Amino acid sequence: MTTRFAMAVDTVRCVGCNACVIACKTENAVPEGGFRDWIAQEVHGAFPDLSMQIRSERCNHCAAPSCVDACPTGASHVAQGGVVAVARNKCTGCKACIAACPYGARYVHPEGYVDKCTFCLHRVTQGRAPACVETCPTRSLTFGDLADPDSPVSRLLRSRRFTVLREESGNRPQVFFLA
Ligand code: SF4
Ligand code: SF4
Repeated sequence: MTTRFAMAVDTVRCVGCNACVIACKTENAVPEGGFRDWIAQEVHGAFPDLSMQIRSERCNHCAAPSCVDACPTGASHVAQGGVVAVARNKCTGCKACIAACPYGARYVHPEGYVDKCTFCLHRVTQGRAPACVETCPTRSLTFGDLADPDSPVSRLLRSRRFTVLREESGNRPQVFFLA
């Protein structure tokens, strides 16, 4: 079966420590002001019955990626395992993909191309986990192949309730938030 990389983010375990963000910045030499992943906080309910959800966000590696459709040069493309990637040598920095992404997952690198999360494909193809997954001290992040029913991410999605962000976009995001 065709590999389909995905990530589960456990919003119960995440404490918003930013270790994933720092690990990503270091691993991928993300410049100052740019982010491939970030922490979102959302307050739910009404006083005094309030709760807060903290979650680590990144590109959703959408199965129907509007960024790829919008890219006029083919720089944004679907790579191995459904990972959405940018070929730097083809990117003109026109920002059409940034406008088309409902998740704010892309930024312009100072060198002129658009950059974003790659699920650390350079590590994954060597049998290693993405840097954020390896670093998370609370094990909030689980990465793997949805085509493998025995992968930890497949098992988690069978056993836990989850949501995706902005499902109405029609992008079919592949990052799942466990509640
Ligand atoms: S490293 Fe883990 S606990 Fe810390 S913010 Fe990232 S996902 Fe949350
Ligand atoms: S989250 Fe944005 S950048 Fe990532 S695949 Fe989806 S549309 Fe493209």
